[in-house]
Amino acid sequence: MGKVLVLNASYEPLNITSWQRAIVLLIKGKAEQVEHNGKLIYNDFPLPTVIRLRHYVTMPYKEIPLTRRNILHRDGHACQYCGYSGDELTLDHIIPRSRGGGDTWENIVTACVRCNVRKGSRTPREANMPLNQTPRRPFSSLYFEVTKHLRSGTHQEWRKYVIGM
Ligand SMILES: [Zn+2]
Repeated sequence: MGKVLVLNASYEPLNITSWQRAIVLLIKGKAEQVEHNGKLIYNDFPLPTVIRLRHYVTMPYKEIPLTRRNILHRDGHACQYCGYSGDELTLDHIIPRSRGGGDTWENIVTACVRCNVRKGSRTPREANMPLNQTPRRPFSSLYFEVTKHLRSGTHQEWRKYVIGM
């Protein structure tokens, strides 16, 4: 069974929850159904895929861990120098560690083995290898999670609620 996208009262995406929890929110009257997939779980009760809270809630920022998996996801599993996407992907420090570059979202990008070796311990400017885009810290862990679902082909109906996908 699927997951459910929870929208704030303002229609901003808030989090992803289980369908069971979404149903509890609907039954308690704390949320309204926005989208469903047509499958009935009870009589006249279709399985929700998007719900909206009746009252606005404020959410604290949730830190996204800086991991290899998350960097690959941010970069769309593509080398940020040449665009290659395949199995042979590595992580590259833009400013090399040996020259004081840190382990940060802004300093680590996905690179194929060829580009990583070619760049060596130089900066992109020195190596004349410009980045396809400036790496950034993902601004919302929710958007990050939602894009994982969309890229794996599930929950396409969420797309219209999440701006900038
Ligand atoms: Zn490359």
